[in-house]
Amino acid sequence: MPKGRIIKALSGFYYIIYNGEMIQCRGRGVFRQRKVSPLVGDFVEFEFSGQKEGYILSIEERVNELVRPPIANVDQAIIVASLKEPDLSLNLLDKFLVMVEANSIRPLLFFTKKDLLNEEETEILQRKLSYYSDIGYSIRFLSTKTDDIADHIATFVDGKVSVFAGQSGVGKSSLLNALVPDLELETNQISESLGRGKHTTRHVELIPFKQGLIADTPGFSALDFAELELEMLPDCFPEFTERKSECKFRGCMHLKEPKCAVKEAVAKDEILEERYNNYVQFVEEIKQRKPRY
Ligand code: GDP
Ligand code: ZN
Repeated sequence: MPKGRIIKALSGFYYIIYNGEMIQCRGRGVFRQRKVSPLVGDFVEFEFSGQKEGYILSIEERVNELVRPPIANVDQAIIVASLKEPDLSLNLLDKFLVMVEANSIRPLLFFTKKDLLNEEETEILQRKLSYYSDIGYSIRFLSTKTDDIADHIATFVDGKVSVFAGQSGVGKSSLLNALVPDLELETNQISESLGRGKHTTRHVELIPFKQGLIADTPGFSALDFAELELEMLPDCFPEFTERKSECKFRGCMHLKEPKCAVKEAVAKDEILEERYNNYVQFVEEIKQRKPRY
């Protein structure tokens, strides 16, 4: 049975890439009964009903599933944060990292608006942010105004599905426009902060770029911990995970427990204190979350 990947959904049709060709498919009623509908990014089995038409028969189990934008099996997120305008917030950055890690998505950090900093400011921020590469993340400093964006992204997207994420105004649309010139996303739109950005009504599509697929939406910009279990939080911090076997207690949350390797590493400046404090704040946020009914 032929298998392909959905890269676009529009007006009841799903567009599947199969052997380098686009096949236009409909879903069979069976999906409605099971309350699961195909998503962009899904791997599906289908049968041909014409030369380039068919019916989707089944959906492969998903590795993950984002709600906004609605995409399944996302491999990587390019987390975008600006160095200035808006000022860099490690709190937000860490929050995005948690959301991405919790969904088994690999993060890449893009720090934008490098052109707005002088040499000294750049150096200070680079030194500070090198912590993130020390704990294993790929980081890039760039300007969407002066840099060749395709160059920065090319080695990263290889064979993978990538999405953009980051707060409003940091340059996600600018990055996408640079990669996919005919997309013409409106940048700097105020409506996004009111929750009715133009993007929210657009359909999602995965655009082939080099050897990978990039979601043609500026991605998620709003965050909450609605779905995250408290126990999962420590494992969203790779430098905590690396040390947890040295904590005295199994299942240590690295808070008030004695002989905690994470807190010892914070005291020795091996773990960035600001990031640890963000972790403690996220624990509180999750604890105070209202139960959902
Ligand atoms: P989004 O909300 O994350 O999609 O951000 P936009 O792409 O809409 O960018 C917000 C504003 O920042 C726009 O006015 C862009 O022109 C500007 N901008 C984006 N990237 C850069 C950059 O690298 N340098 C400078 N100076 N401005 C940028
Ligand atoms: Zn601990």
